[in-house]
Order: sequence, then C-alpha cells, then structure tokens
Amino acid sequence: MDDTAATLPFHLRIAALQCNFEGSRQNTLNVPKLWNSFGFNTEQLFHTHSELYSAVFRKEAHTDILRDYIEKSRKNGIQIILYMNCHILLESQNDRAEDWAQVDRNGEYIRSYGTYHACCLNSSWTDFFLESIESLKEFDIRGIFFDGPSSSSCFCSRCCSLFEKEYGLPPDQAEEQQIDRFRLRTIIRFIKRIYEKTKKVNPGWLSYVNANLMHARASAEEMREILSYNDIIGTEGGFQFYGPPSDTDIWRCGMHAKFVEAASGDKRRVIFMAGDQKPWSWYMHTPTETKLCYASVLANGASVWYGIHSSTQNLKGVSGRAVQEMVQFDKKHDHLYQNTESAADTALFFSYNTSKHYTSSGEATDFYGSEGLKGRTGIGNYTDSFRGAYGMLFRSCVPFDVVTELNIDSLSTYSVLILPTCACMSRDTVLALKEFVTNGGTLISDSETALYSDTFEKQENFMLNDLLGVSFKGYRSYRTHDYFTCDTGPIKSAGVEYIPAPLTAVDAVPAEIAQVCARLCPPLAGRYSDRPESGVYPFIIKNGYGSGTSWYFAGRFFELYSTYGIPHYKEILNTILTEHSSPCAELLNAPESIEVTVRFSGTGDTLMVHLVNYSGGMNRPITDIIPVSGLVLKVNRGFSSARTLLSGTNLEPDANGLLHLPELREFEVVCIE
Ligand SMILES: [Zn+2]
Repeated sequence: MDDTAATLPFHLRIAALQCNFEGSRQNTLNVPKLWNSFGFNTEQLFHTHSELYSAVFRKEAHTDILRDYIEKSRKNGIQIILYMNCHILLESQNDRAEDWAQVDRNGEYIRSYGTYHACCLNSSWTDFFLESIESLKEFDIRGIFFDGPSSSSCFCSRCCSLFEKEYGLPPDQAEEQQIDRFRLRTIIRFIKRIYEKTKKVNPGWLSYVNANLMHARASAEEMREILSYNDIIGTEGGFQFYGPPSDTDIWRCGMHAKFVEAASGDKRRVIFMAGDQKPWSWYMHTPTETKLCYASVLANGASVWYGIHSSTQNLKGVSGRAVQEMVQFDKKHDHLYQNTESAADTALFFSYNTSKHYTSSGEATDFYGSEGLKGRTGIGNYTDSFRGAYGMLFRSCVPFDVVTELNIDSLSTYSVLILPTCACMSRDTVLALKEFVTNGGTLISDSETALYSDTFEKQENFMLNDLLGVSFKGYRSYRTHDYFTCDTGPIKSAGVEYIPAPLTAVDAVPAEIAQVCARLCPPLAGRYSDRPESGVYPFIIKNGYGSGTSWYFAGRFFELYSTYGIPHYKEILNTILTEHSSPCAELLNAPESIEVTVRFSGTGDTLMVHLVNYSGGMNRPITDIIPVSGLVLKVNRGFSSARTLLSGTNLEPDANGLLHLPELREFEVVCIE
C-alpha cells in the first residue's frame, strides 16, 4: 500500500457533519476539537465546502477555509478524507440545469430529495467535477469520498443520442433491460473516471463511492467491476428508518456490515450511520438506537462513519452522549478492532445474479426508491427469501457470515452454507458449490435453486440436481391452510403433526439414494374442510454428495418464514445446523432478539463474542432495551481466561465449563483467550 493511505489505520472512527449551520468561521474551525473530544480519528469532511446539503470543493471559494481546517484537524489528531457530491447539482448551479441536469422520459427535470437537480453523468458537468478533483492537489488529505452517483435513468438529449449510438435505436423504442444496462454502464464509466482521476492527482489517496451492496440491480460481474474502483467499501447500513420504523429489521445495521465484509476483500470497510432518525435531519435517534447500531457495526467487523445532518448543537443532548460513549469504547479497544476476522462456521449466500434478474423488491434509501425492476418472474421473491433465512439465523443466535459470488472462494472456511432461493447461477458458482459439498460441506437450499442461468435462462433441470438429489418436474400450488408432515427421521418435530406448507412448492423427484424427510400433504379444499391427509409429495430431501450433505426444501421455505414466522421452520433449520455445524461459541438461554457474532482480534489471540441486545418494547424506535439476565456462553475451544470488555468482569467457567454472563444491557463483548 502507498504512503498516504498507510497513515490511516485499517479500523477507523469517522465523523461527519453533513451541512454547515455552525454560524461562523470560528465555530467551523472548532469542529475538529469536538471530534477529538468524542474520540474520532478521521473526518469525512463536508461542511467546509458545503452549500446547504450538497458539497463540491471549488478552489476560488474554499481554499482558505480548507487549508485552515486541515491544520486544526492535524492538531486534534483528525485525518481528513474529503467529501464530494456527485449525484446532485449545487443550488448555485441551477442556472446550468439545461446543460447538466437529468430529465425523465417526459423531459421533466428529475429532483432528488424534492429540491435538487440530479446531475447527468453524460454531460459536461463531469468535466467541471474532474477539474474540481484536480484542484484538491495541494491539500494534505487521505483521499476523497464520492457521494453518489445517482442511480436513475436520464433521458436528456445527450443521453438519448449516446444511447442511440450504442444500441442503434432511440430509448423510447428500447426494452427496459437495455435502458437499465445503459444506466448502469453510465454509472460504472463515471466511477472509473473519478477513480482514475483521483489516483492521477495523488496515487496515495483513497477513492470510494457510496456503494449500494444489496439492491444495486447489478450482476456479480458488474458489482465486481464497480468495487474494483473503490479503496474503501462503504454503504449506508446505518441510515434508518426511511420507511415506518416498525418495518425495519432489527438486524439491518449488522446485515449491511456483513455485506461490506463479503465485498471488501482486504480493503477497509465502513458503515455510514446517520445520527438523526431518517428522514428527519434535525431529529436525533434515541440513545438506545444509537448504541445498538454502533455496537452492531463493531460486532460485524466494520468501522463506523457517524454523521449528522443538522448543527453540532444537536450532539449536546442524550443521543450525542450515547454516541460519545460508543466512540470512546471503540477507541479504548482500538487494538482489538484492527483487522478482526470472522470465526463463524455458517454462511448465508446472497446472489447478485439472482437479485438482478429474479423477482425481488428494493429497499427505500436516500438514493433508491423501493420499486423493483418490472418484468421479472420467478415463483418467489428473492428479497423475502433472503430475509427469511437471515431472520432464522439471527433469531437462533447463530453467528454467521454473508458470502456472495464475489467471495465464493472463501467457502472452505465454513461447515454450512445456506442458499435461499438462489435461482440464477453461473457455471462457476455451480462448480464452487459442488466442490464445497464434495469436501464435506453442508448445503441447505430451497425453491428454484440453480434452475436458471446467471442471465435468467430457465433450465430443464436444477443445475445442481445430482448434488441436491432431486430432479425438477414442475410446481404445486398451496394456500395458507395447507400442510406438510415430517416422516420419522432427523427432523421429526415432537408433538406437531401438521406444519404449514410454503405457498408454492416445487414438484421434485428424489433420486433413489436421497432420503425424503418430510412430505407435503394433498391440498385442502378450504381451511375448514377436513382433517389433512398425511404427506405425499417430497418436501425435505436429504442427499449425500461426496463427503458432504445437501438438504433441499422443495418450496418457498425461507420466504414463508419471512412473511409468517412459522416457529417450526426455525426449529427445523436448527436441527440441521446442530447436526452439521461446529460453532466456536454458543449462547444459551437467550431470547431471539440478541445478535451474536464471533470474531478473532487482529492479533489473532482473542476470540471476541459480541452480543447486541435488541430486546425492547416490541416497537421501533427502541427507547429502552430490556436487560437480559441468565445468559450462558458455551465455548467450544480451549481457553485460559474470559472477560467482558464493557463491564470489565472476569468470568470463571462453572463445573461444566460454561460461562455465566452478567446482565446484558445494549451490548457486551466477551473476550476469550
Ligand atoms: Zn443525461
């Protein structure tokens, strides 16, 4: 790594002020002192060159203040990464809208956040922007963060003629897929240009954009290309709640941190966390939500970027004090948080190819509406399926990682891989999964797994049919009054005869060597019609392959859990996990609302078990957590000492080698050496 970037540690504590309402130049220059008092060591600097809620450095206007601010920051031990906005025009550039702004299909300007023009990446605005990067040459900064670029399709005259040149027809005659491909290629071209420009201005600077890792509408290949132009992988996992808080999964922050880890390789990773309760910029999150989000990001091995969208006066209240406590905790244990590595034994697969092509739904954020792409069909919804599998693992207190096509070469690290509705699969992924199971891994999958190519061409049979031990024959429809029954076998559920069936099932023909563990009952005429018959059609199929095992659910198993939370679905998954996984630590006596992660410290000698307690009043935002007592940690490896980091308690194992934990409030870290 080059010199400039090397002066930044791997794990960072990044502050940000996303506007300037400080009132005077002097107040602005006092901000680094405030960051220092909180414990931050880096600022993603916005407010010295902001115009309301947008910021692009302009030499003639901002040179003096930036020079003085960097000097103040240096004295306060704060390193600077400069913020540059590349998705909206400055308000003072409104008179350039005709040349620079995006328009929709009707020729109307596209407005971001209701007020700003979105900038067209095929216009001469890009020249203005690249010049601005050039003008930063003289400053002692560590890199540039590019916020954006915008994800919408532009239909201005420039974009239309470029489209016609590339596709041979005007956009209004083109297919949705062509329009979307043009949109994404425009973004990738721009990211490449700003990355290369930054490196040309100073090869030592870090360059990165605001990455959307979950609903990017990008294939695995496209995602790989985008990430190659990023030196830090950062995403807005801690910007919440855009929609109704009660609809937000309690695992959201941690989940995004897992995605960042899966996408980052050996690059730095960061979760952008808004101090304010989005979308209200001047209303802060509760202290409890603040702590939970921060703790969850730490628990999953990412750095926190903490930013506010109001005045620093807003940091003087209880939420400010809460984040200060968290940053101080992060700082105090900085040596443990540098270069941590996951110690999880179970992985959950996210498929970019399936997310791009198969039916899925998006998540509303600052950049993206909640609308998915039209015209895609599959029997299920990929987003819900992934969410169901994630929820089952989280609510079972199982430590796990996210694996995608981007880091599929890491599979050998895990005993168990869960593959919710991974419908669209490349040949490379097929081979990697076969190798994983051949070498002793356990694969748990459902629904239309590997029934489509990576570009959504339907196959006659599952590409993994020999591994799954089933062949594809067709589909069966079920309604919310149908059932399956478990045969005697490893997953017979005690005391429950009928378990709700997923709403669409796959008509799967088991191979002779495969074992059918559960069967779907014939559909009932109605919910009050008759006693269900015993199961007939194969539903849960276990198959040996090489030295490993496949468990296949012939239906939208994970999706039904996401929607209906059937407790026995989670129980069945846990029965399989107990048989096949070897976690290094297990949390016992725990409610479903505690997140558990296991990571080795960078020095390698400490196993850090993070517990984040989301037990609240069954509502979001959480104002008060419910403390949890009686938690027991079972450590499945030799150790000589155990202590808690937050409460500072030394833990002695009982006669059975179990560790009894002190009362858990928002979070705790158990360090085992
Ligand atoms: Zn355009």
